[in-house]
Amino acid sequence: MKKTAIFPGSFDPFTNGHQDIVLRGLNLFDEIIIAIGHNTKKTRYFKLNAMIDYIRMAFDNNPGINVITYNELTASLAKKYDAKFLLRGLRNTTDFEYENSIAEINKHLNPDLESVFLITSPEYAFIRSSIVREVHLYGGDISDYLPYAL
Ligand code: ADP
Repeated sequence: MKKTAIFPGSFDPFTNGHQDIVLRGLNLFDEIIIAIGHNTKKTRYFKLNAMIDYIRMAFDNNPGINVITYNELTASLAKKYDAKFLLRGLRNTTDFEYENSIAEINKHLNPDLESVFLITSPEYAFIRSSIVREVHLYGGDISDYLPYAL
């Protein structure tokens, strides 16, 4: 049976840290769906459609990678795509605390869904989308943090 994992996040922007998790996830899963959570009431810093294109570019249109947007519970999205796994990255204990409760809730909402965590590669552990946005806002060079050219 095909193993499909959802990799959910805001990806505002998608960074080298995210790419690392997806590439390593490809050793575990046949297909990874990168799902950009999009709340219509919240404005993004980087445009959604542009980010979809950038992510596709970052994976060179790899057939094992799909990029979608969603505006619903991740647990329901997984059911829709018949995905039994949720892929997440763990940078530190703060991520762990947060991810722990999210995983519990997701399991409760969709008992077939297993959360799988990969420990961040140390060279990317410092990268946070929020900080990358801040650096960009004030004119700094963020190219070292992104797997595509803006
Ligand atoms: P959210 O918006 O849900 O906080 P993000 O979009 O920032 O999440 O990230 C999505 C997933 O990628 C999360 O599992 C997060 O832990 C992971 N992640 C974020 N930054 C990194 C990084 N630098 N290295 C590895 N994983 C990361």
